Amino acid sequence: AARNIRFFAAVAQTWTHEAADSEAKFLGRDLKLMSVTQRPPVGVGAIIIPWNSPLMLATWNLGPCLAAGNTCVLKPSELAPLTSIALGEIANEAGLPSGVLNIVPGLGDAGAALVSHPGVDAIAFTGGVATGKRVMASAAESLKRVTLELGGKSPNLVFADANLKRTAAGVARSIYRSQGQSCVAGSRLLVDRKISADFLEMLAAEIRRLKIGDPLVDGTEYGPLISGAHRERVHSFVADAVANGAKILAGGKNPAEPARGFYYLPTLLDGVDAKSRAVSEEIFGPVLTVERFDDEEQAIASANATRFGLAAYVWTSNVDRALRIAEKIKTGMVWVNSFFLRDLRVPFGGAKMSGLGRQGGRFSMEFWTEPKLVCVAYGEEDHDG
Ligand code: NDP
Repeated sequence: AARNIRFFAAVAQTWTHEAADSEAKFLGRDLKLMSVTQRPPVGVGAIIIPWNSPLMLATWNLGPCLAAGNTCVLKPSELAPLTSIALGEIANEAGLPSGVLNIVPGLGDAGAALVSHPGVDAIAFTGGVATGKRVMASAAESLKRVTLELGGKSPNLVFADANLKRTAAGVARSIYRSQGQSCVAGSRLLVDRKISADFLEMLAAEIRRLKIGDPLVDGTEYGPLISGAHRERVHSFVADAVANGAKILAGGKNPAEPARGFYYLPTLLDGVDAKSRAVSEEIFGPVLTVERFDDEEQAIASANATRFGLAAYVWTSNVDRALRIAEKIKTGMVWVNSFFLRDLRVPFGGAKMSGLGRQGGRFSMEFWTEPKLVCVAYGEEDHDG
């Protein structure tokens, strides 16, 4: 969170107007033109964030919004408002002028009220696809600009030439980090059939190694889900897949310990029908589905067989293959032999139903500013008076 704020504070110091020089004839005179593109702030920004990673998502959006000179209203999820409120207190302590950052916790209708409010000029929304569509439809009424960071169903493509041990650890991290409650979760495993048996064993070993426990205890790697209702929803995908022939290789239930908290075991599902809900919908939980491929073409087709397009992870030691695949997969982001390593200058966002617009570095600054042309014509002294 601190890094987000520091990064955009630095961007603000180097963010400048651009100027283009040219010539033109006007009212019989030869003139020079200095066309300056200024970047004034849009005005008031509404930032609506979900419950997962609330502090990271708040600062990731607030940083550029404030750095560009806007004021903003931040609406955290009602399930996770405390870090946003603490952030407001810190901003007060740090001397941010009153009224620049406003925190409005509340249910979804607080978000809806912000989106339709005439005093709001731009909306940065992070959340689910259905809510994102509602936000966009409502914003259209007053032509407010919108950026949407929505859900995902991101594939891990594992090829036989990858370093399989490291890949197993990477794939486990991509899906079980934050218990799968992450937009970039690598929730589909597409693995080369030749190595699938060995690879699944390595993955099962990674799952067994995960340290499950209280997130406030040092060393814990895997905590609970956000709520009982969410745990039930996650399990409903697993139960549905099993009813349709899937086999549980790991997890698929609540652990006996810890007793307090909505824990659900890291789950690995094999033999899942590619058309089933577990493969086509975002579960937003610790469930990895397994599909096998025989060649690169089939791997790419499976990766693209989804309405989402947020991220993809390609695991291979063949650079040609990695770049070839990156070109053919329709997603906003492709990580090769890694998961979610971020340089804050680069674009973050999704293709297809995973979103609209990009954030990061100049992409965020462009969203939060309204380009304005100021064209100055100047030239020779007019000797005719
Ligand atoms: P929701 O879409 O349910 O909610 C997101 C935010 O919108 C919450 O603050 C919610 O308030 C608010 N909200 C609800 N209804 C409206 C409305 N009609 N108008 C305006 N705001 C509204 O998502 P979740 O909180 O369940 O978060 C999970 C989703 O977020 C997943 O789909 C995940 O993929 C996505 N996500 C995307 C990221 C990305 O960068 N692409 C990053 C992180 C998550 P309240 O919670 O109080 O109802």
